[in-house]
Amino acid sequence: MIRIILPFIVLVVGLWSWSLAAGPGAGSPWAVYEQSLLLSGWLAIALMSLTMMLALRPAWLERPMGGLDKIYHTHKWTGILTVVFAAAHWLIEMGDDVIESVFGEAGEQHEPHYSGFIEMMRDAAEDIGELAIYLLFAMLLITLWRKFPYKYWRYLHRLMPVLYLLLAFHAAWLAPLQWWQQPIGMLMAILLLGGSIASGLSLGGRVGRRRQVRGTITGISTLARDVTEVTCDLGPAWPGHRAGQFAFVTFNTVEGAHPFTIASADQGNGTVTFLIKSLGDFTRNLSDKINMGQTVKIEGPYGCFDFDRRNRKFHQIWIAGGIGVTPFLAWLEAIDPSTVTAPEADLHYCARNASQDPIVERLRKLCSRFDRINLQVHDSSKGEKLSPEKLATDGRSAAGAEVWFCGPAGLGRTIQQGLWSAPFRLRRFHKEEFQFR
Ligand SMILES: Cc1cc2nc3c(=O)[nH]c(=O)nc-3n(C[C@H](O)[C@H](O)[C@H](O)COP(=O)(O)OP(=O)(O)OC[C@H]3O[C@@H](n4cnc5c(N)ncnc54)[C@H](O)[C@@H]3O)c2cc1C
Repeated sequence: MIRIILPFIVLVVGLWSWSLAAGPGAGSPWAVYEQSLLLSGWLAIALMSLTMMLALRPAWLERPMGGLDKIYHTHKWTGILTVVFAAAHWLIEMGDDVIESVFGEAGEQHEPHYSGFIEMMRDAAEDIGELAIYLLFAMLLITLWRKFPYKYWRYLHRLMPVLYLLLAFHAAWLAPLQWWQQPIGMLMAILLLGGSIASGLSLGGRVGRRRQVRGTITGISTLARDVTEVTCDLGPAWPGHRAGQFAFVTFNTVEGAHPFTIASADQGNGTVTFLIKSLGDFTRNLSDKINMGQTVKIEGPYGCFDFDRRNRKFHQIWIAGGIGVTPFLAWLEAIDPSTVTAPEADLHYCARNASQDPIVERLRKLCSRFDRINLQVHDSSKGEKLSPEKLATDGRSAAGAEVWFCGPAGLGRTIQQGLWSAPFRLRRFHKEEFQFR
């Protein structure tokens, strides 16, 4: 995420500095005020344009960015930074009285006076910008308020393209005229165009449409009290998937699409299986809400949590927390012990209560086909906790290990931080982001 956002911010600030160097100079407090206003606004609209483009679920960006989950993570942070810079822009705008009371009016840069249509549009851009910024703040508060139900938040979030178009209008009319003859103007034009096209596609419901396939539910079983296994037949329209990828599943149009990992290997016949844990409103009592033979819409596959991307030089440590076991089930199913040399790996499964968890048995069965995959179950009901030391008990990690983690975000953070003190060299930590908001 930081690999994308930081260079982007450096570019945006760099082009602003260039425009500054080409301008009349900025010595007085009023000039500093004016440039701070421009820079904060420019950063906000540039980041928001990027946010809108990332929301298009661009498949071609998956490889370079490490999967759609990472793209969404970046989208989330560019969105947060947009609001931060928009807030700075708003505060600076409101601060002109303070500057005036401290430094007086001397040196105040008056806005160039335009006449007729241009002046009217600039006035409208100012009013629209102010309104849009308040709406943006309201959206941030709702987003940060975790208790606000996701299903309503999703609908509110769909208004973001409208907000973007309002802010793009504000930025395009109020950017200094000389910018349009400089590299900063060129980047701004590209970003505003890209962001506006992305907004149009979002509003038209075209995001991800080409990856949507319809099918039917052919199997529903309740594996445990809170885990439902759902099998869908998508027929030949399904393009196939790599083990560990996920898809957006729509069982019910009003409810909308939910992301779930495909817990089965690709069988070449359009059959996909999901293991769905009751983690909220819709997934609670899921088996009562869906029926055999019912139509289902699936969009995907997405994601790069793909064990073919492992570095074969390093020892493999695979960590699954609870329902985060789904990509590993698909991996184990995808490896054919008779044709492929299975990787040497330690698979750690963290379960709440292993004796009542049907996935433990399924994992044992799948792992029993491979000599080189060593399954370890950590049962929290018995106080068993996964620690960095436990990850390196057999010394196989001595030359360095690559960790693949899928599970609750908190567990992932704890393990990743703990690994800095692990008795082996951590070469890479792959993590599937199970939370988009
Ligand atoms: C890449 C990925 C793979 C996943 N794989 C699995 C899996 O294999 N098995 C499994 O049980 N769970 C999986 N999840 C989690 C699953 O998507 C959520 O548990 C589910 O959407 C919760 O829906 P709900 O309405 O019951 O919960 P809610 O109470 O509505 O929401 C709980 C949380 O779930 C997330 N969520 C809800 N709806 C959506 C949505 N439409 N899009 C994105 N996130 C949403 C939000 O973070 C929300 O805060 C995965 C999530 C991601 C991002």
